[in-house]
Amino acid sequence: MNKNSIQHIFFDLDHTLWDFERNSEETLISLFEKYKIGEQGVNIEDFLVAYKKINHQLWDLYNHSKVTKEDIRLKRFPMAYEEIGLDPTTCPGNIGDEYLEICPHKPYLIEGCIELLDGLKGKYTLHILSNGFDKTQSIKLSTTGLNKYFDVVVTSESCGAKKPSPEIYTYALEKAGANVDNSIMIGDNPITDIKGAKDFGLQTIYFGQENTVADIEVKSLIEILEYL
Ligand SMILES: [Mg+2]
Repeated sequence: MNKNSIQHIFFDLDHTLWDFERNSEETLISLFEKYKIGEQGVNIEDFLVAYKKINHQLWDLYNHSKVTKEDIRLKRFPMAYEEIGLDPTTCPGNIGDEYLEICPHKPYLIEGCIELLDGLKGKYTLHILSNGFDKTQSIKLSTTGLNKYFDVVVTSESCGAKKPSPEIYTYALEKAGANVDNSIMIGDNPITDIKGAKDFGLQTIYFGQENTVADIEVKSLIEILEYL
């Protein structure tokens, strides 16, 4: 990796900086309790497993442009009901909207996030490049106080294209006044964040447990400071 050329850092948000698992789980538990789903003979662990499986499937389809944002919002809870053997027609009609109302206001960040951003801020210009939704990602950034670290925030919704497509990378670099030679992408998804950025010509840092095509792979956020 050529560190000296780098001026702009593009971060993925969910699972990279914002602790999606913890924030989502806490939201799901509160909805499980509110709607007394346990009284239908389902335990919380099975409910969480079913929801996560369905949500993952739908996001994968979204990333491949096979379903829309609306499909995710409307279908993930009824599909999770079906997955655990409950009648999907008994699923509360507004539970999907409630989830989206509550979850982005949750406060948890991935360990080392603030230390990392404090270490990078001032040396580099930091940006967000996310396949999430505009309103949701903006609430997450303001609730957690991450707003102040970032110059440009690009979502797939605002751009009209999703990672790993080259369109969103072109759009993000242009908005940030950056170019492929002075930018690096950091994220947790081996395909959308890493392969997409690498194919586009960007340098990459992967945060996670898998083997990827990234220039650098780290298992904790704080390790990134050794390289930048
Ligand atoms: Mg991510």
